[in-house]
Amino acid sequence: MKLAMPLYVVWETTLDCNARCVHCYSDATFGHGPVFWSLDESLELIDQLAEVGVIIIAFSGGEFLLRRDWEVLTKRAVDRGMQVTFATNGLRVTEAVARRIKELGVANVSVSLDGATAEVHESIRRVPRIFEKACEAIRLLARAGVRVTVNYTPMRTNLSQAGDLIALAYKLGAKKINLTEYVYTTRGGVGLMPLPSELGGLMTRWTTAATEWKGRIEVDWHDCRVALLLPGAESDPYKGCGAGYTHCRITVDHDVTPCVVLPLPVGNLRKERFAEIWGTAPELKRIRDRANIHDGNCAACEHLERCGGCRAASFARYGDAYRGDPTCWIKPDGIEVDGRFIANEVLRS
Ligand code: SF4
Ligand code: SF4
Repeated sequence: MKLAMPLYVVWETTLDCNARCVHCYSDATFGHGPVFWSLDESLELIDQLAEVGVIIIAFSGGEFLLRRDWEVLTKRAVDRGMQVTFATNGLRVTEAVARRIKELGVANVSVSLDGATAEVHESIRRVPRIFEKACEAIRLLARAGVRVTVNYTPMRTNLSQAGDLIALAYKLGAKKINLTEYVYTTRGGVGLMPLPSELGGLMTRWTTAATEWKGRIEVDWHDCRVALLLPGAESDPYKGCGAGYTHCRITVDHDVTPCVVLPLPVGNLRKERFAEIWGTAPELKRIRDRANIHDGNCAACEHLERCGGCRAASFARYGDAYRGDPTCWIKPDGIEVDGRFIANEVLRS
């Protein structure tokens, strides 16, 4: 399983951030830290990605809008023919910024909303009034004609707000709401991880909601198992985990990793060009072949080819990306007792 080039690349352009989210995957911080990607290096990377045919570039961080040159980078990527998308916490979005984003030709802006109320969202993002600002950012961007996606990461603390979040995103003018599985390779740790049964229940409600909201807002998801819930043709576009196959991440340290939440460097852009890493890195070859999954629920699963299991979740749990997926709600890799998940490995020991 290999594409000539990834469909999209998520690039961590900075670690600066004006929020302190509990579940941040890049461990971003307040204040201006070192410049990891100079302007020259950044432009050169954009050119490299465009030359090899990457379709979508997702500027990430930290908070991308804190980069003083965010407009320069955006313009370069648009001029090179790539679709540009980026995620923001909304704090820097003013009416003028929203208009500029539209003028620059950005295809999509993702605004994070992890709660449908200020109390829940701010307990996760840990900045006063960030809920109000994020809602206002969505309104301003939508009014300026920018396509907005709301990003939602379900964790134990905000699972119950999923339905309300869809309604809120629609009311604010977003075109899409996307649920992204929480993987505890982030600074949030395992404590935020929903139980497999909770996640499974949520995904069933979420895919049902996608039908109910059709025509008003697109309700989408990132969970490798979802194809197994959908009838026949509807599930065809879903090929399960796309780590190192449909996408990859570029970190502030210039490493390439197979997925945003899989901190497994497969090459470094200070030593090799992107095309070389994508085409020859042994670890990428390994992760693209699901026969390399050697243990746990995934290895023995009849859905392996279609789903693949979350390689990042395996890495988080075992420090090995080729074992079972502890987040699986179809074939759980353990049992739930009194609201706690006990892995099969622990039961065996
Ligand atoms: S056991 Fe692994 S491959 Fe099977 S459904 Fe669960 S996550 Fe997917
Ligand atoms: S490792 Fe695969 S399933 Fe997990 S978040 Fe990345 S792409 Fe998705």
